[in-house]
This record gives sequence, structure tokens and C-alpha cells, in this order.
Amino acid sequence: MSGGEGGMESDGEDDEASNVRTKIYPNGSTGPFIVFFRPKLKPLNLISITRDLTRKFSGVSEIKRVHANKIRVVVNNISHANEIVTCELFTLEYRVYIPSRIVECDGVVTEEGLTLDELYECRGYFRNPAVNPVKIIEVKQLFSSSTQDGKTVYSPSNSFRVTFEGSALPKYIEIDKARLPVRLFVPKVMNCQKCKQLGHTTAYCCNKARCIKCGEEHDDSSCTQAATKCLYCDEDALHKLSDCPTYKQRQEKLKLSLKQRSNRTFAEMLKQATEPLNSGNIYNILPSDETVADSINAGASTSGTANSPWNQPPRFPPIAKAHTSDPQTKS
Ligand SMILES: [Zn+2]
Ligand SMILES: [Zn+2]
Ligand SMILES: [Zn+2]
Repeated sequence: MSGGEGGMESDGEDDEASNVRTKIYPNGSTGPFIVFFRPKLKPLNLISITRDLTRKFSGVSEIKRVHANKIRVVVNNISHANEIVTCELFTLEYRVYIPSRIVECDGVVTEEGLTLDELYECRGYFRNPAVNPVKIIEVKQLFSSSTQDGKTVYSPSNSFRVTFEGSALPKYIEIDKARLPVRLFVPKVMNCQKCKQLGHTTAYCCNKARCIKCGEEHDDSSCTQAATKCLYCDEDALHKLSDCPTYKQRQEKLKLSLKQRSNRTFAEMLKQATEPLNSGNIYNILPSDETVADSINAGASTSGTANSPWNQPPRFPPIAKAHTSDPQTKS
């Protein structure tokens, strides 16, 4: 795998819309359910979005502009959340999505002779049998890249990227009685050719163009200067993006944040599996999206459920013992 699974499209934090498959909350998930809006054909119009959302979807409980190009909608009804991301009233003009990292996770399975059909039949298992296996949503064969006559050539590998339901990465899949281990799939951090920032692609760039050669605000092609530095790390050096220290750092952080998310979700699944009456929510252990909007910051917010702003306060305060003045108690 050292050659990398180079042919794969990145599926990072910010490219939900570039992936054709619309993500939805799987059955059985509990809220609150988060949906994001980003500009597509036109800038975000908070007032008109709010008007349409509240008119059509009673389950919407909060609409907040996270920053100029991102609106977060909190929904307390799973079917409303899933309907919003497919509702043409919004999707024609805006990117409307449920972040993939909340509802699914990607692993890699490597074995010679595997087929897509076989893999689609499988489920993902955890070592602890108390935790139910999870469904496979999507399988893609990975490609390895090599250089031939100065050109990059991609050829199919024995590895498959397997997308599982839920954000806890299973340990293995089973084909007949064969157990195949699942490794974490770490997508490549995206880079924007237009503004030369990491974390998004040109297709969804809302920034001004920045010239790769001189760093000024114009298009690369209109510039006659020679490049002298890397705009991603600001070092006076020219290197490939994959050698850029800033890029490598982001890649490491992304990996760490995916691992932490998986571990947190698994811990919550285990808790639910062993405490059937616990109505906990595997989704609200995610930090608020202001902090995970950029995958890179996700690792910083692992404080768990207690202070998650999404946690609903308990509906009733705990009943104190020897509490005799309950107004509903008949005297
Ligand atoms: Zn950009
Ligand atoms: Zn320039
Ligand atoms: Zn650099």
C-alpha cells in the first residue's frame, strides 16, 4: 500500500456534495439531527431559508449561520432531516447535506480475489459481540498509482474502500467464515487550486483567487512571475503538496480525528448495547459543528456529551426525595 491508493477521490470533510450519494440519517438514530446549507448557485439567504424551512418542516428547532458560507440547521425529527437534504426547494440553489462523518465511516479491506458483489453482501463486525454488526453502504475498488514513461498510471488494487453505516469503524468483515480485518480509510486532505487553502476544493471555493506564483489576488495563468514559495505553508521552498509540512500535519490531524470519532461512537454503541434502557444518542457525542466544520479541529473537541451544546436538557428535573409540595399531588 506504500504506493498509495492514489486513484481515489477524496471524501473529506467538505466535499459532501461532490459525492453523488446523498447522506441520510439511518433508521434508529436519535436526534438532534444536523443539516448544513452551503452556497451553490447563489449566496446563502438566511431569511428565505428560514422561512421555507419553518413553513415546511415543523421538526426544525434551530437555524444558525455558522459563518458567511455555512448555515447549520438542527432538526428534532429524523424524517424531516432526511427530507430537507433531498428537498428541491433548497437543493437546487444550495448545497444541502448531512456530513458524512456523522452518519458513516470508511474502512479499507485488502484481499486478493475479492469482488464488489461479495463485499456488498457483508456486514462490519466489532470484537465485542454485544455490539451489533453494521451495514455496508458502499464499496469501491481502490487503485494504486505508478509512474510509467513519466506518466501516472492507475491500476486496480486488491484493496476496497468500504463505507459502513454509523461512525464507528468495525474491526472486521466476514466472507463465509473468513474474517478480513478493516483498516481505517483516511481520505486525502483537499486543497483548493483557486485560493490555495486546504480543506475544500475549487468547486466550492468562496474565497478570492490567489496566485500560486506571486501570492497576489489574481489567477495563476495571468501571472508572469516565477514561483518561489509554497503558499500552503508559507515556506520559501517549492515542494510537492504531499511533501508540504502543513499539508502533512493536516493529514495526520484528520487521521487522528477519524480515529477519535470512531472510538467515541463505539463507546456509545457499547453503552447502549449493554444498557438497553439507556436512551443515549450516538450522534450527540459529536462536538458542535463549529469545531468540526474543519476536520482538522475535530480532534480538539472530544469532551464528550456532558457539555455538548446539542444535548437537550432533561425534560423533568430529578424528583427529590421527601418532596412533599408537588403541586400535582392531591392534598
Ligand atoms: Zn478555495
Ligand atoms: Zn501572480
Ligand atoms: Zn508547503
